[in-house]
Amino acid sequence: MTSLTPFEIHCPCCANSYHTIGWVSTNSLGPFSTDLHCRASGDQPLPYEAHTCPSCGYTIPRGEEFDIPPVSDDVKILVRHIITPIVKERHIQPWLKFEFAAWIAEWKEKNPYEIGFYYLKAAWCAGDCGKTDDEMYYRNQLITYFERELEHPNPGDKYDQAVLIYLIGENYRRLGKTEMAEAWLIKVPKAVRKEKKNYWLAKLAVQQRKDPKEFIEEGQFCYEDEPRTIVRWYNDLRQYYTMLLEKLP
Ligand SMILES: [Zn+2]
Repeated sequence: MTSLTPFEIHCPCCANSYHTIGWVSTNSLGPFSTDLHCRASGDQPLPYEAHTCPSCGYTIPRGEEFDIPPVSDDVKILVRHIITPIVKERHIQPWLKFEFAAWIAEWKEKNPYEIGFYYLKAAWCAGDCGKTDDEMYYRNQLITYFERELEHPNPGDKYDQAVLIYLIGENYRRLGKTEMAEAWLIKVPKAVRKEKKNYWLAKLAVQQRKDPKEFIEEGQFCYEDEPRTIVRWYNDLRQYYTMLLEKLP
């Protein structure tokens, strides 16, 4: 079960205050798809991982809600000219929030990994809502940024290169670009051996090349070699929960 909580955000772009909803606890018991979207059973936490100001459209990703960085004048101008008109005209669906987050990350000159990750979340959201055209557009976008990231990789503790290589391959596959999918998926085992973790991902990559599936079955892989692997996608959970508790009166 996913527990939600309302809270207030003071927009650093237009100074408007607005109410939004975040999640404080969730689980990973729902379907786990082969594009590494780890779902919850019941309500999904994903739509609550980006907060868009209803006045200007400035979007704050999960993790920044309680320590919101200031916004430069250059970014404010871009938000006002590009995002605000969209917010005034249409209902803002969850995948659009992640697209805004990606644009803003790009305007802030964040690394391609972060930008690509917002597009990945946008693709997951759009896919779960049956918005196939949007989903495919976002999958194309995330590939562009993840490929760019790997030109000058800087993983730190943010990601493993094997995961990014796998995601590029799997997203090409989902776009129907089988040759590109093969070219990337075939690189996964080598990357896994180099990083000495995520060994299950090498097996998954082989499966996706030879007999691709959309979902990973429960118990199909042993994640023991790196217990943080799956948790990593949701490892901000504890951090978020702690921050929320600290902010509560
Ligand atoms: Zn605002």
